[in-house]
Amino acid sequence: MSSDPTSASSDAPNAAMPLVTHWIGGDPTEGSPAAFGDVFDPATGEVTKRVAYASPGDVDAAVDAATVAFRAWSQVSLTKRTNVLFRFRELLNARADELAAIITSEHGKVLSDARGEVARGLEVVEFACGAPNLLKGQFSEEVSSHVDVHSIRQPLGVVAIISPFNFPCMVPCWFFPIAIAAGNAVILKPSEKDPSAANWLARLWAEAGLPAGVFNVVHGDKVAVDRLLEHPGVKAVSFVGSTPIARYVYETATAAGKRVQALGGAKNHMVVLPDADLDQAADAAINAGFGSAGERCMAISALVAVEPIADQLIAKITDRIGGLEVGDGRAGADMGPLVTRAHRDKVASYLDAGVDEGATLAVDGRKHAVTGSEAGFWLGPTLFDHVTPDMAIYTDEIFGPVLSVLRVGSYDDALALLNANPYGNGCAIFTNDGAAARRFEREVEVGMVGVNVAIPVPVAYYSFGGWKSSLFGDTHAHGLEGVHFFTRGKVVTSRWFDADAGVDLQFPRNQ
Ligand code: NAD
Repeated sequence: MSSDPTSASSDAPNAAMPLVTHWIGGDPTEGSPAAFGDVFDPATGEVTKRVAYASPGDVDAAVDAATVAFRAWSQVSLTKRTNVLFRFRELLNARADELAAIITSEHGKVLSDARGEVARGLEVVEFACGAPNLLKGQFSEEVSSHVDVHSIRQPLGVVAIISPFNFPCMVPCWFFPIAIAAGNAVILKPSEKDPSAANWLARLWAEAGLPAGVFNVVHGDKVAVDRLLEHPGVKAVSFVGSTPIARYVYETATAAGKRVQALGGAKNHMVVLPDADLDQAADAAINAGFGSAGERCMAISALVAVEPIADQLIAKITDRIGGLEVGDGRAGADMGPLVTRAHRDKVASYLDAGVDEGATLAVDGRKHAVTGSEAGFWLGPTLFDHVTPDMAIYTDEIFGPVLSVLRVGSYDDALALLNANPYGNGCAIFTNDGAAARRFEREVEVGMVGVNVAIPVPVAYYSFGGWKSSLFGDTHAHGLEGVHFFTRGKVVTSRWFDADAGVDLQFPRNQ
């Protein structure tokens, strides 16, 4: 078995190793892979499957299948489309545990967390079940003599979704239920690190009665992504991943004339004011800093303690870290492994970097006890104190279980720190002062704000998205913004002649 957790090679998998194939036109297909990648069980470190990386020709086949399917699906009545959505919702709800187990086996997050991500994905499916209401246009009668105006929203065609490793169910679900309900056909390119959830979802769609070709999955890396970005048959791209790739995807796909929303990385701050309940703040910092091993785009990685409470808060957090069980997510641990060995090693390298730059390593995650296979990709919760804004542990998105405490003297200092950060995904303030909280929500330059809520992921009927380097494009995910992203508006002005209008060369005016 390979020991390189990020290996991609042209070696075909051997017969004993399961292969994750694409799902094109309603069928699993191996296509003509450009390469193959290893899929790991992060808790054991073993390769459990291989995944076929799509060649440009495989992507073209998916676009062809989706284009044909779109023509028919976009003509299916809203009632029939919604019926499929409802069946998909029922199946996903009934079999959520099956999907959660797949996620844990490839991502490593603990089962309760995997169930949580399925539940948040399901929320968007339920939102999309309201498509008849969401897609309603407007009608104005007699805007001019004998003239009525109405608006409609129509699907775009074939849309691509390119998703990251950290939420193999929830992130694709931010987009595809709405895209499909609106009459589009979808090609999902999930992360190559945990590809199986996408295929499971494709089978579920088929079971729900979605016509073949409306939902397709292509696996792979940059080769597959680039072909999706340049293919003239793809009309829109929803991307979620790290900021450099989000920027690249946005620039490339908009240059190719596509509609794009590209959600990028994050550095989420949690401000604790001196009047806050410090036990509640410590619990929240632990949950938001170390849940899913810090591999959440809304994880808190910068804890901004407004003095004089930093010492007390750190003591409470340190105490709680000691009680966390790190181990196999299937066996009741609080925190699982990181997704790959390469990622684990990269995150661990920041522990030395932080010390070298002068931060205090208050809790060293490398020393945390682990209940699990020695070969797993483990790193325990880490806490840095006396972090300053120039340190790499602050400026970089580490995307692991590393919480950095920055001590500041006032609310204004805290706000200035947040607003100077290039990212603007999520943030939180902990306080019992309503006026301070209200000021914060108005003044902070971040897309999603929590008041005594550390992970303020909006419900499905609001929209998810950050500001600044955390999102490229104008439209956030799901909610009404999602409906707008996956449809284009048309306004019809109509007149039914019951009087002689005559010839008139003036620009049309309302009369
Ligand atoms: P990533 O950017 O490495 O990969 C995301 C997707 O892009 C994957 O499908 C991957 O195959 C593809 N990809 C990777 N390299 C590429 C390249 N050079 N060219 C084209 N495509 C490429 O991200 P990841 O490591 O899978 O996920 C973690 C990142 O995602 C973090 O930065 C996290 O903050 C971010 N994220 C953001 C949000 C959000 O809502 N803003 C949500 C989840 C994750």
